[in-house]
Amino acid sequence: MIDLKQYEIWFITGSQHLYGPETLDKVAQHSQQIASYFNLHASIPVKVIYKPVVKTPDEIFEVMEAANQAKHCIGLVTWMHTFSPAKMWIRGLNILQKPLLHLHTQFNRDIPWDSIDMDFMNLNQSAHGDREFGFMVSRMRINRKVVVGFWQDEAVVNDINIWARAAAAWADWQGAKFVRFGDNMRYVAVTDGDKVEAELKFGYSVNTHGIGDLVAIINQITEAQIDALVAEYKTDYTLSADIASNEVKKTSIRQAAKIELGLKTFLETGNYKGFTDTFEDLHGMVQLPGIAAQRLMQQGYGFAGEGDWKTAALVRACKVMGAGMAGGNAFMEDYTYHFDPENSLVLGSHMLEVDASLASGKPTLEIHPLGIGGKADPVRLVFNVAGGNALNASIVDMGNRFRLIVNEVQAIEPLHNLPKLPVARVLWKPLPDMKTACAAWIYAGGAHHTAYSQNLSNAHLQDFADIAGIELITIGKQTTISHLKNQLQWNDVFYKIK
Ligand code: MN
Repeated sequence: MIDLKQYEIWFITGSQHLYGPETLDKVAQHSQQIASYFNLHASIPVKVIYKPVVKTPDEIFEVMEAANQAKHCIGLVTWMHTFSPAKMWIRGLNILQKPLLHLHTQFNRDIPWDSIDMDFMNLNQSAHGDREFGFMVSRMRINRKVVVGFWQDEAVVNDINIWARAAAAWADWQGAKFVRFGDNMRYVAVTDGDKVEAELKFGYSVNTHGIGDLVAIINQITEAQIDALVAEYKTDYTLSADIASNEVKKTSIRQAAKIELGLKTFLETGNYKGFTDTFEDLHGMVQLPGIAAQRLMQQGYGFAGEGDWKTAALVRACKVMGAGMAGGNAFMEDYTYHFDPENSLVLGSHMLEVDASLASGKPTLEIHPLGIGGKADPVRLVFNVAGGNALNASIVDMGNRFRLIVNEVQAIEPLHNLPKLPVARVLWKPLPDMKTACAAWIYAGGAHHTAYSQNLSNAHLQDFADIAGIELITIGKQTTISHLKNQLQWNDVFYKIK
């Protein structure tokens, strides 16, 4: 469902005619070599396309115009091998609508001490050429990522990889559709927000369907389709022992499969990239989608419960950013705490809908009462989640802007079996420590719903926030409450003026 290789980054080198054809030929050869190196590099998840060296304001304008129009172009990498007077870039940069990465590199890693002459100096000028270009981008207040270093350095390649993933997630949001089945959970604040502003800012649309529209599709699912999906459940999961002898539970699994098939048909037919539901609005449905949401998330759909469209969209963006990497990206909720002063922990989970892509082993398929919502006992997958570096991310609507909040966490293996807890769950220690992290999250207004990632770092979310042009608050190893409070106050003033 997510294919990053469909996307292109255009590699654009700036120069000018002053150097003459011989030098410009070399500039073109070197640029082709660098673009091709990135294009073939296993760590760069998208195509990197060499574009002819631009030497005039018109050439620059035309390539920017073409980039805006090109459906698969998700961003530009620019590099000034020689000097490219930056007033030439004004018209082009002024219309650029795609993300920008400025690669501050040099074709030669080392100075050739014995042979260096003025020809070498004439060609290898990015040390000052890139500063001229950088000034103009700063003067025009355009967000971009600046990556510094020799182009074959792994750290440089990885910086481009991270940015390319953020740019791909951004491209994926443009024109994306998210559907809400039912509205927001009644009276809940943080899951609500300005959907018009979100479409203006983020490029995706969110619309609601009454649950009856979904139920009509569910009711068209055939017995044969249900048979096939139940067979898949039996292969992929360990069914809890009580199901085999219990006719009600067997029926329950068939109903859950029917819901999953109906949901998937609805999403595919409408070309949706994610959805929300709410246990308060299930009119005509026999149970809350549990296993359906878990499996659809695993297939790449964004999801969040209780009508939380911002988190559903963020989960989808994280899935695009993390595509092809080991580990999962999932809808999550801070559920309950372990306040042992020696070993403070957060237990993350949801009522049912924990993404099966996080499972550390073969999940168990179980059926239990939900205790909320007044519907039939829903089917869910139960599993533990492995330890390791992870993060939680949340987008909130602050009234005059969207704020992205990231908390870096250390996930740990479950300490106990939790035999009576019939949902999938994750345990983590938030950084820098439990008290600081939780206080910082609450000061920042972070939601109880998050996108939980096992494979993204703060750097991915930083690039994504920069591309989106939104505020980012990171809570991690360096966070102190006094600095964070100041940052929140300064940002409030900044966004009022902006
Ligand atoms: Mn919730």
